[in-house]
Amino acid sequence: MRKIQMVDLKGQYSGIKDIVNPDIQEIIDNASFINGPKVHEFQKNLETYLNVKHVIPCANGTDALQIAMMGLGLKPGDEVITADFTFAATVEVIALLQLTPVLVDVNPDDFNISIEAIKNAITPKTKAIVPVHLFGQPANMEAIMALAEAHNLYVIEDNAQAIGANFTFSNGQKAKAGTIGHVASTSFFPSKNLGCYGDGGAIFTNNDELAHTIRGIVNHGMYERYHHDVVGVNSRLDSIQAAVLNAKLPHLDSYNKARQTAAAKYDTAFKNHPNIETPYRKSASCAGNCDTCDCHVFHQYTLKLNGVNRDGLVAFLNENNIPCGVYYPIPLHKQKAYQDARYNEADFPVTNDLVQRVISLPMHTELDDEQINFITSKVLEYING
Ligand SMILES: *Cc1c(COP(=O)(O)O)cnc(C)c1O
Repeated sequence: MRKIQMVDLKGQYSGIKDIVNPDIQEIIDNASFINGPKVHEFQKNLETYLNVKHVIPCANGTDALQIAMMGLGLKPGDEVITADFTFAATVEVIALLQLTPVLVDVNPDDFNISIEAIKNAITPKTKAIVPVHLFGQPANMEAIMALAEAHNLYVIEDNAQAIGANFTFSNGQKAKAGTIGHVASTSFFPSKNLGCYGDGGAIFTNNDELAHTIRGIVNHGMYERYHHDVVGVNSRLDSIQAAVLNAKLPHLDSYNKARQTAAAKYDTAFKNHPNIETPYRKSASCAGNCDTCDCHVFHQYTLKLNGVNRDGLVAFLNENNIPCGVYYPIPLHKQKAYQDARYNEADFPVTNDLVQRVISLPMHTELDDEQINFITSKVLEYING
């Protein structure tokens, strides 16, 4: 059996090597490292894939979030509502810009931001909501956009984990995650569903004016060379990373399909087990295999354990050379940097519970049946005793 990895980037590389290698060589030969033609080509291709008017590449997913907030003109003291159960980058940039993060609880089924919790957190100072499409499944964008419209708020989608996923509206219409809010951010960190070979990120929007503002912000606030109209940042996707992404983009749907297939196999092995809850899928039509709906693209495959010693399971899997992860072990509202007197433990029952019960199994495009069978048999061996 091949060694099991949490993410297997080398296996995926063999399928695109013949395109990536000469493209990188060409960039070196032309010395077109910054703002080369590959960056523009990738931007256009991603706009087409997502069906969004503007993609603005930048240096990483954290910058993308920050720049999106700067582009919207959010001001110190503005309150920004986001999920308590996510990676710290989301709340970090809110705090960096001296906006006020307002963390709220998530749903017990899809782990995404709770609509009820958002409603309870809205005040006259609220300016924006940042849903994070966690683990590859979009948050309820229909309800979030309706709330935002009613309260005149911006919606910034953190789409670092769900590129390629579809959100299906109640009328049956579908849209790609990251194209529904006023603006969205994504990350091309190597382990993401569309990852490059270093750091990368992008901002998406359908708003022409906002896109123009953001194109200046990523480039030192310049709209005309050496005229600095606003305070900007330096955040670029370099040409070599763009070449890698351009080679991978045509495969993104098949990469996501491979993740869905692996998820369906895990599901089958754990089906109806009293101690294991397999990942929830929003779309009833997908029946455990997201082939038709793409409602979940499985950035992570995350189980909820009932009455299982999680530390013991993690140790047992590691002893058997099976890597696994706990995303995320501590709620953001309990992190030293983000504690706030406004928070009440009673407001976070779901996050406080999830952090103790979740475990993520290896998930990538190269998992084979032998590996999946070994992983599931070891999980069951530990739990069944
Ligand atoms: C990865 C990630 C980010 C940050 O992306 P970087 O490219 O590492 O800066 C932000 N939000 C979420 C939800 C992520 O998973």
